[in-house]
Amino acid sequence: MQRLVLASNNQGKLVQLRNLLANTPVEVVAQVQLGVNEIEETGLSFVENALLKARHAARITGLPTLADDSGLCVSKLHGAPGLYSARYAGKHGDDLGNNTKLLRELEGVPDAQRAAFFICMLALISHADDPAPQLAEARWYGRILHAPRGTQGFGYDPLFLPDGQQVSAAELDSTLKNRLSHRARALARLLPSLSTTP
Ligand code: IMP
Repeated sequence: MQRLVLASNNQGKLVQLRNLLANTPVEVVAQVQLGVNEIEETGLSFVENALLKARHAARITGLPTLADDSGLCVSKLHGAPGLYSARYAGKHGDDLGNNTKLLRELEGVPDAQRAAFFICMLALISHADDPAPQLAEARWYGRILHAPRGTQGFGYDPLFLPDGQQVSAAELDSTLKNRLSHRARALARLLPSLSTTP
């Protein structure tokens, strides 16, 4: 079975990616298990940051690597939190603080102007200097609620009402979420490459 490093320290992402890869011929290993530290995300786009993370982990481990750079973009806020989704309120990974800040920024904004999407950019490389990374992107459209709902998922899930659904991403049945979400659909595009990446 081929080993694949997941270049992320975000527990929510790792759980979801592991689930989605459960029936594939790859053994996934979180980068932290191989002593890979987090690097600064200095890129100006999701794709640049995904590649930075993938190359860093592949360089240290010598293994094929899959990196995910993702975030939430709110139209009314000109795409914020965007690249800074994980540290919107200041501290990296402060989900509660991030959600509180987002609600504050959108205070008094009516539903019709609360459109948002999650974006997931995946980068798969077979080695650190791979000149031909496999990239896949997907977006999940919806709107931002006025108060958090639900306890599953992570990050902004409790504030995100996916288009066509009556419940937030933190209330959504996990099987359905694994079909609809930005991460699930981006990964589905990469699955054929995963079985051929050396
Ligand atoms: P990254 O690790 O820099 O890619 O940070 C991504 C951030 O975007 C996470 O910390 C979350 O705040 C947010 N995010 C990305 N994907 C999701 C998701 O599926 N649900 C909820 N929040 C997400």
